[in-house]
Amino acid sequence: MERVLRACEAAARWHAGQWRKGPARLPYVTHVLEVARRVAASPEADENTVIAALLHDVVEDTAGTAQEIAALFGRDVARIVAEVTDDKALPKAQRKALQVETVAGKSAQARRIKLADKAANLASLADTPPDWTLERRRAYLDWATAVIAGCRGLDPVLEAAFDAEADRLRARLG
Ligand code: ZN
Repeated sequence: MERVLRACEAAARWHAGQWRKGPARLPYVTHVLEVARRVAASPEADENTVIAALLHDVVEDTAGTAQEIAALFGRDVARIVAEVTDDKALPKAQRKALQVETVAGKSAQARRIKLADKAANLASLADTPPDWTLERRRAYLDWATAVIAGCRGLDPVLEAAFDAEADRLRARLG
């Protein structure tokens, strides 16, 4: 418990000053808390996966580094975070294509975070949508569904939760 809460605190510090897209102007850390809460709903998720979920956007979106994560939370957590971190040197379209192509080869821990992360993003698109066109939201849903195709057959709880959010968003988009 103490280790998980230390990761909550570290995530809040690293993401300080960052905000979610959308009208609610929520602090960015609410996203990683939601993803970690969703991961923790799986009876198969271990503590390092929950901690890596809390830190899953640190290397991609903050000044925090894999070395700092390894020093504070261990190399296993740092390795899981690295698995779910996109290479921002690549163009966005290529990063998105790579997620679809590479996800099936990632560890079970990384794929649990992917399932929860995409479910959280679909929930946000349904409930607190950013200023996106219907087409852009539909394209995001299609892309998320393609990424998650590489995560199926792993975790029934997280897979069902993703499917429920995809159905809910699809109903919203019409
Ligand atoms: Zn995320």
